[in-house]
Amino acid sequence: MKYIGAHVSAAGGVENAVLRAVEIGANAFALFTKNQRQWKAAPLKKDSIEKFKRFCKVHNFSADQILPHDSYLINLGNPDTENLQKSREAFIDEMQRCEQLGIKLLNFHPGSHLNKIDEKACLSRIAESLNIAIESVPNVVAVIENTAGQGTNLGWHFDHLAQIIEQVEDKSRVGVCLDTCHTFSAGYDISTLEGCEQVFTEFENTVGFQYLRGMHLNGSKTSLGSRVDRHHTLQEGTIGTDIFKFIMNDDRFNEIPLILETINPDIWAEEIRFLRSLQR
Ligand SMILES: [Zn+2]
Ligand SMILES: [Zn+2]
Repeated sequence: MKYIGAHVSAAGGVENAVLRAVEIGANAFALFTKNQRQWKAAPLKKDSIEKFKRFCKVHNFSADQILPHDSYLINLGNPDTENLQKSREAFIDEMQRCEQLGIKLLNFHPGSHLNKIDEKACLSRIAESLNIAIESVPNVVAVIENTAGQGTNLGWHFDHLAQIIEQVEDKSRVGVCLDTCHTFSAGYDISTLEGCEQVFTEFENTVGFQYLRGMHLNGSKTSLGSRVDRHHTLQEGTIGTDIFKFIMNDDRFNEIPLILETINPDIWAEEIRFLRSLQR
């Protein structure tokens, strides 16, 4: 079974995200549980939590079909002690929100070294941040997203993901989300079926499919290895559509949220139908 959806808006309350997912014919979705550009947010309202859970039940979304994304401000590898602390607190708050909503996955961008510490030290900081969060909040799995490698962002190389996981104590609480746009921008050629085969074999050997907890399905506006993160629609852009054919027909991508973050929400319903049409 393929769980396909999009990163829908939670404007007006998290419960509305569920209804927006239903509207586009999705059987998975992503959302922000707070304003993604602010450090602090009011706690979730009791009424919102109750409605979110009820709508999920009515519309058959299990915890496996929901992949929230954390705030863009958080840098769990921040070299500066004070800023690192701020990020860690915000991340724990994000995890608690998920826990309150009965969500078991939380997708985040690993972090940036800001040219102040080396890659290895930054990856260790990220792992340490995860260990602290995992100990503070029960159940929720921290899902590391691979990045395009813009600026000093880590997590673009599969080995970065492996190095973080290696240092997380409770491996049952850490996972990975691969973004097709980021993978391509980071230099992994997934533009042909043969390339997909090779890249995912490398992923299996470096990280392992047992850690794959979600995918972001996006086209890209930039070229292979550009290290620039610019999403496109599924059918336009530089990657082509073989990657989506590959994912839709490979059982290793079953029962995990496959989330569109493509640039035109007006065609999300159409893009979901397109993905389903690729299944043989
Ligand atoms: Zn993404
Ligand atoms: Zn992106």
